Amino acid sequence: MDLERTLVLVKPDGVQRGLVGTIIGKFEATGMKIVGMKLMHVSDTLAQRHYAEHEGKPFYAGLVDYITSAPVVALCLEGPDAIAITRKLMGATNPSDAPPGTIRGDFGVEISRNLVHGSANEGDAAREVGLFFSDEELIDYPRSNDVWIASDEG
Ligand code: UDP
Ligand code: MG
Repeated sequence: MDLERTLVLVKPDGVQRGLVGTIIGKFEATGMKIVGMKLMHVSDTLAQRHYAEHEGKPFYAGLVDYITSAPVVALCLEGPDAIAITRKLMGATNPSDAPPGTIRGDFGVEISRNLVHGSANEGDAAREVGLFFSDEELIDYPRSNDVWIASDEG
């Protein structure tokens, strides 16, 4: 069993459209554990750090404007294969390529308003969780039903 932590953002469009509960509910229903969660504004500095890999691309300025335009909900999710499972639930970057049942497929129509962020790989996840959460904001706790979500044998 590969226990991972990943960063999820309900982006400003998700918050503005009243989809926070729906989006978090989809992640929560898998059994992944919420170990960090907060409503926050993303500063220009944080946006630039978070999206550093996209600097110089044509959509970069619009992306920074979008993510800083209104509050986001930041989550740190933990579970076996949490990074890939989160990406699967999100669907493809462009909602028009995202299948029904995924967050972007069900609730989005356009790539620049695609509702949700999830870390792409282990390196990004560690970096992004560190950008959005302090150690004290990440809470390690047992759940009585953990054994029904993932067995020790993996
Ligand atoms: N994005 C955009 N236009 C593009 C490509 C990306 O507006 O042509 C935005 C979109 O919000 C996307 C984010 O930039 O979620 C980061 O792009 P990436 O390729 O990392 O997609 P993701 O990992 O979010 O699926
Ligand atoms: Mg990405």
